[in-house]
Amino acid sequence: MIYVRFSVLGSGSGGNSTLVAAGSTRVLVDAGFSGRELVKRLAVVGVAPEELAAVLVTHEHGDHVRGAGVLARAHGTRLLMTAGTRRACAKLLRGTEDVGTYRPGRPFVVGDVRVEPFVTTHDAADPAAFALVDQTSGLRLGVATDLGRPTVQVKYALRGCDGLIVESNYDEVRLWSAGYPAAVKARIASSHGHMSNQTAAGFVGEVFGPRLSAVVLAHLSEESNTPALARSTMNAALQSKGYQGLVEVATADEPTAWFDLTELRSRVESVQLSLF
Ligand SMILES: [Zn+2]
Ligand SMILES: [Zn+2]
Repeated sequence: MIYVRFSVLGSGSGGNSTLVAAGSTRVLVDAGFSGRELVKRLAVVGVAPEELAAVLVTHEHGDHVRGAGVLARAHGTRLLMTAGTRRACAKLLRGTEDVGTYRPGRPFVVGDVRVEPFVTTHDAADPAAFALVDQTSGLRLGVATDLGRPTVQVKYALRGCDGLIVESNYDEVRLWSAGYPAAVKARIASSHGHMSNQTAAGFVGEVFGPRLSAVVLAHLSEESNTPALARSTMNAALQSKGYQGLVEVATADEPTAWFDLTELRSRVESVQLSLF
């Protein structure tokens, strides 16, 4: 049975981790909860840590790497990160972990998955995001939180995706009226911070193609956003283009249901194909 499924185990400033299952391969993108919490959330969706082929780490911020070292030591999980990220999160590692490095722009294979890493402009040492491609079906899932701004390179990397997990961090009006210090607001809204609902909607509208069947909004700010605002902004942008797929919001406290990309795509493909 060929299938690609994914679940966002949790997403927000308190932690980020996404589980992707393609063929017989299971990988995590980021491990930003404690080791214990990650194992608990994996259990909710029926996966044991020993089943993970690797954790693909995007960057060294705590909300993306918190449990990576523990997972690697306790369960032998392989960690894959850029050399810059490895240096930047040296404190998390004791030297006994199985750590491999990748380079943005150089695709590599983990089991049944081709990983296409690309550079982002986020304010970390050596940040990256990924397109994951199931080698058998060609189904393509983009996982891009902490984007900074959607550069031409990011748009190119995420073209033709069947599914997108994308950050929709803040509502522009709410951010500027929130109680943060001005410097924090400026950092969040800068080209090295996070994408607003409005920017995310414009971005997904631009990379939208006939295959796109599922958009999951992630990394929502608790202070400057609500799931309803993020969802309605994205819905408005995509419905005007004829998008027939799913728009869902990942939350901080619990895993989403499994999204079955194979099934979602078969539902929308014929309708959307006529638009292009
Ligand atoms: Zn970050
Ligand atoms: Zn983050």
